[in-house]
Amino acid sequence: MKLQSDDALKMYFYQNRLETFEGWPFEENCSCTPENMAKAGFIHTPSENSPDIAMCFFCLKELEGWEPDDDPEKEHRSHSAACQFIVLKKNVEELTVEEFFKLQKERQKFQIIKSCNASITKFEDSAKLRRADIIKTIKGEE
Ligand SMILES: [Zn+2]
Repeated sequence: MKLQSDDALKMYFYQNRLETFEGWPFEENCSCTPENMAKAGFIHTPSENSPDIAMCFFCLKELEGWEPDDDPEKEHRSHSAACQFIVLKKNVEELTVEEFFKLQKERQKFQIIKSCNASITKFEDSAKLRRADIIKTIKGEE
């Protein structure tokens, strides 16, 4: 899922992240409730086959296969140690403008890395297909 830049800015706020967790499979008697997920920076990004995909709005790390006892903050830290949002000691509302812009700069790095990796994967996949085609042709198959 690609976040429009306005939407991404909104996601700095807990309440907006929380609202994405409609239909989240873990509601009660568990650690990964929508509230705890949103507190840990996650937004709900379900796909047709995976209702439990969540992505950090900041570092864009996607995690799925949640278990009721998973602690969203711990999971976030262990899968994305470089994420500055999860180590933030203040609420976003309390940041200075300078701190906010520094965070934004870091967030953009994650976005660039993610889109570069997506392009690389796409290129490698099409190179593989092309290579298979060439080999077929050499072998004289259709
Ligand atoms: Zn993160």
